[in-house]
Amino acid sequence: MQVFLAIDLGAGSGRLVAGKFDGAHLSLDEVHRFGNEGVEINGGSYWDTTRLFHDILDGLQIAAKRYGESLVSVATDTWGCDHALLDANGNLLGGHHQYRDPRSNGMQEAMSERIPLDQVYASTGIQPAFYNSSLHLLAERIKGNPCFQIAHRLLFTPDLLAYWLSGVMANERSIASTSQLYNPLTRDWAWDVIDALELPRSIFGEIVRIGTVLGEITESVAARTGAPAKLKVVASAGHDTASAVAGLPMERGGLWLSSGTWSILGVESEKPVTTPDAFAAGLSNEGGVNRTTRLLHNVSGLWLIQECRRHWADNGDDLSYAEMADLAEAAPAHTAFIDPNDPSFATPGDMPQKIQAFCRNSSQPVPETKGEILRVATESLALKYRQVVESLRSVTGRTFAQLHAGGGGIQNELLMQSTANAIGIPVVSGPTEATSCGNIITQMVATGTIRDVTEGRGIVARSMETKTFTPDPEQSWDAHYQRFLAIAHH
Ligand code: ADP
Repeated sequence: MQVFLAIDLGAGSGRLVAGKFDGAHLSLDEVHRFGNEGVEINGGSYWDTTRLFHDILDGLQIAAKRYGESLVSVATDTWGCDHALLDANGNLLGGHHQYRDPRSNGMQEAMSERIPLDQVYASTGIQPAFYNSSLHLLAERIKGNPCFQIAHRLLFTPDLLAYWLSGVMANERSIASTSQLYNPLTRDWAWDVIDALELPRSIFGEIVRIGTVLGEITESVAARTGAPAKLKVVASAGHDTASAVAGLPMERGGLWLSSGTWSILGVESEKPVTTPDAFAAGLSNEGGVNRTTRLLHNVSGLWLIQECRRHWADNGDDLSYAEMADLAEAAPAHTAFIDPNDPSFATPGDMPQKIQAFCRNSSQPVPETKGEILRVATESLALKYRQVVESLRSVTGRTFAQLHAGGGGIQNELLMQSTANAIGIPVVSGPTEATSCGNIITQMVATGTIRDVTEGRGIVARSMETKTFTPDPEQSWDAHYQRFLAIAHH
């Protein structure tokens, strides 16, 4: 048996998952889970990254005890965009800010004074957003941050953790592609954007491909954890969505949905599409496995349902997700719709009331019961997915035979069935652990254990549970979709 360790960090928690490969099948074992809370300091939002590294080492120690010499490699995936600066000796310069740090306020305008936003899109394929690394670096530039004078390298979060594990600095492609400073057409940094923002070129290092062996763990990591000294550190798909897409048992070029707190829906594309049409359709281009581009759209996801749950729990009704799904299932269908991406839903707090307000303000029947509210949220997510699929069809000129969905949200079967009905093609759901699977199969390719990601996806298909939801032939959602478009943002 060979064991590959995925370090999967989310904005609320992190975990180490061991992937056990017996030559034919892959099985997963969560060896360690820990909290990931940011820290507020003088109005700034930071990650407690050295603490996270401590938790990662604890996890590595548990894995080393459990799997010893069977451990082959380790790799990290995280959310996008966040980064740190290091000096030539490898010391952290300043803090490791969170993407929600307020320093990017007003920076979109500051960027557009330096370079037209359509040029930024043509070069990077990334939509404007407050969390883009470009805006955070511009904010530091405008403040005259002296760190730039001595900064040697910029590393994104998975790059930084890989450096602390291996002593090797590298910029991995999928995570670099989230920054709005990477050009997917030239497969190099977006030098025109970097120059326009007056960022020092020298901090942007060589971009390594997804699935690069960086080296072995350092002596100090081996001594602290008891892990084998030959344990390899891999730059896998460092962006968690790229790992999730890698871990779906689909054909190259497939249509996919990563369903969690966010829903990210996209297609694995042979080429980036940075045309004005793609810009207008709200699509972003991020790096994927096998030299592909993930052409995608971010939709607010199960966040809507999580926030309803939190609100009702705060008011004394602590429902499980399974109970909530039953309530939604029993409620009447297609009474009213919301646009999940409406800004009113973006912030925490009284989500049921916000859903009711949207329906009232758009002159639709107002859902009253918990089941009715959840049904509105669930069906609206499915209709929003259809809107994204229609954009992908029109921008790429392609048709899609099925949608592959992974992540925790696939356990919501009403959502999966509604999605199949709304889009009119089968939805193949599974695995829930797509991100860990993708991280692990990328390591298997990097270490020469398997030939390529296609073989890895075949192993996932054999090893993990999937379920197919076919569109209900009795129901066409075309009329519902037209009603949805009347209340939706474009
Ligand atoms: P994250 O993006 O935060 O990692 P996950 O992939 O863990 O999220 O997905 C969490 C979501 O999955 C929850 O918000 C919830 O809506 C959904 N979910 C989890 N378990 C169930 C269940 N048993 N039934 C229905 N939905 C579920």
